[in-house]
Amino acid sequence: MVQFAPIPASDARVRINLFSDTQTRPTRAMREAMMAAEVGDEQLGSDPTVNALCERVAAVLGKEAAVFLPSGTMCNEIALLVHCRPGDEVLAHETAHILSSEGGAPSALAGAQVTGLGGARGQFDAATLRAAIRPRSRYAPPQALVVTEQTSNLGGGTVWPLARLREVAAVAREHGMATHMDGARLMNAAVASGHAAAVLADGYDSVWLDFTKGLGAPLGAVLAGTRGFIDSAWRWKQRMGGALRQGGISAAGCLYALDHHVERLAEDHANARLLAASLAEMPGVASEAPETNLVFFDLRGTRHTAADLATALQRMGILISVMGAYLARACMHLDVTRDQAQEAAAAIRQVLAA
Ligand SMILES: *Cc1c(COP(=O)(O)O)cnc(C)c1O
Repeated sequence: MVQFAPIPASDARVRINLFSDTQTRPTRAMREAMMAAEVGDEQLGSDPTVNALCERVAAVLGKEAAVFLPSGTMCNEIALLVHCRPGDEVLAHETAHILSSEGGAPSALAGAQVTGLGGARGQFDAATLRAAIRPRSRYAPPQALVVTEQTSNLGGGTVWPLARLREVAAVAREHGMATHMDGARLMNAAVASGHAAAVLADGYDSVWLDFTKGLGAPLGAVLAGTRGFIDSAWRWKQRMGGALRQGGISAAGCLYALDHHVERLAEDHANARLLAASLAEMPGVASEAPETNLVFFDLRGTRHTAADLATALQRMGILISVMGAYLARACMHLDVTRDQAQEAAAAIRQVLAA
């Protein structure tokens, strides 16, 4: 289970922040782009920078239209509200963010129940999905939606292979279910796999990008789909109070991120591999080779709990996150250099050897 380590609200002693890629601070150049943004009234559809961002993201994701939202959580929940009616069932991996980290919103807001599917490293396959499909009857909840998470966060930042994504979408379609992709880290998957985001999202009815993770913007996510889907999403955005005014200030940061912070995700992936290679040499530490920017490592074989390690590292100015009694996570992003990844590895070695 996720038990986030305590993190000081504002602690100048934090030198290396591996807690999450949500911890990135907007760069000076990004802030300048935000300051120069042309703005209007987003709620009326007349903020030119938000409109430009939505057009750009729709193209990047290969969809007809897109809507700007304050957060990724709102993208997921609005997608569920549009795709599902109360009583419907959603199928997602048992570690999915919609199940573990959105405050029960699928049932609280959409009235949908989420059933978790099994599978290694945060992914299920077409056969597992097929096995979870119920014969239609008046007893069974109507199965409305299949959700994939690219990359899988709690699966260790794993990239769903293109063939698996397509097979899963095909099974869903065959059974009259809609498909949604949680693309919080879709750009990490695109950079790591070499497949364009639009190719990875092909066959999915809705998909979104988060700009506050590795892309480094302070605020914003964009949800994409057909024009009809986005019209319905807009109604929910309005109802939930997610319609903005001069949103262009934020959208300019997102546009800046698309121009400057996508290709560089490869550096984060290289830093993750660097840290994982050091961890692999530490006695008792088990870690799967990272596919993107997240490094999960298990300390069961050491005398240390993840919380012990996190506390000791915090005293050294290094933050990681605690994902379970013995499970820790280190996350690479644009505020972490290669030297800092190496320094963090040395600090972990030092704590575990003590
Ligand atoms: C962070 C995250 C979200 C939610 O995004 P926010 O912008 O923090 O609301 C959803 N899904 C996954 C996989 C995430 O990692």
